Amino acid sequence: IQKAALTRLDMETGLRRALECGQMRLFYQPKVDIASGEIVGAEALLRWMDEERGCIEPEEFIPIAEESDLIEELGEWVIRETCRQNSCWQRDGLKKIRISLNVSPRQFGSRLVEVIASSLSENDLDGRFLELELTESMLVQDLDVATDLLHKTRAMGVHNSIDDFGTGYSSLNHLARLPVDGLKIDRSFIKDVTEDPDVAEISRIIIELAHVLRLTVVAEGAETPGQTAFLQKHNCDTVQGFLYSPPVDAEDFEILLRSPQFCTKTH
Ligand code: C2E
Ligand code: MG
Ligand code: MG
Repeated sequence: IQKAALTRLDMETGLRRALECGQMRLFYQPKVDIASGEIVGAEALLRWMDEERGCIEPEEFIPIAEESDLIEELGEWVIRETCRQNSCWQRDGLKKIRISLNVSPRQFGSRLVEVIASSLSENDLDGRFLELELTESMLVQDLDVATDLLHKTRAMGVHNSIDDFGTGYSSLNHLARLPVDGLKIDRSFIKDVTEDPDVAEISRIIIELAHVLRLTVVAEGAETPGQTAFLQKHNCDTVQGFLYSPPVDAEDFEILLRSPQFCTKTH
């Protein structure tokens, strides 16, 4: 127990230092329009570049940040950096895309709306190029707070979407009422979509349900052409997955964004 506590504290101190010393990076994973094969968006994913340990994945440090106040600072940095980078790419004349970022429940009620508003205006970025990904569980935890927040971000033109859809407990009633614009089908479904007929059927129904509610659908974690073919057949809008690209650093993402493979129609 003592060792675990020490590690946690070490991690927290290290993380705080990393944030101050500029060792945090955002990686970007493309979201590809399934019909045209073009990059239409990206998800910003946090990485900690430690001198000794190399690249540390978010699953290792986000929970620790969430247990302390650090997540608010970290979350604020993610919002500012996403807006700065996107605006920079737009000024360089690259294709204009919407970039999403993950919001942690602990960021709710803090200065979230304020930070988004100031990041957009400081970078002269239109709100429609920013998207928030929130999980079902955080939306239902405090439905009133979430609804209020999502109305405010939507008023700025920002898109709201539900992450990891299908793994939480949001009721269909909530889904219909929440001011959201899209949902992401969880990777656990996509993984089995060509193997398990029940999973295939559930995924198909999620896509249909989303469209009934006028939500766009992103399939997360597409790794094979077979999975993409299934998703295309069932009118999924967008795919994100290793089949197209893993999350890459800003420099490599820029190359993807300029690459003819992703800019022109592939079929
Ligand atoms: P998420 O938001 O569901 O992000 C998608 C995760 O799926 C990413 O992992 C991505 O690398 C991975 N992924 C995408 N396509 C594939 C695929 O084809 N196969 C496989 N096996 N995996 C795929 P990552 O970057 O390790 O992030 C993990 C989680 O950490 C994220 O899940 C999100 O919940 C959290 N996270 C990442 N960045 C942030 C952040 O800035 N703030 C907060 N609060 N959470 C973050
Ligand atoms: Mg996400
Ligand atoms: Mg997800």
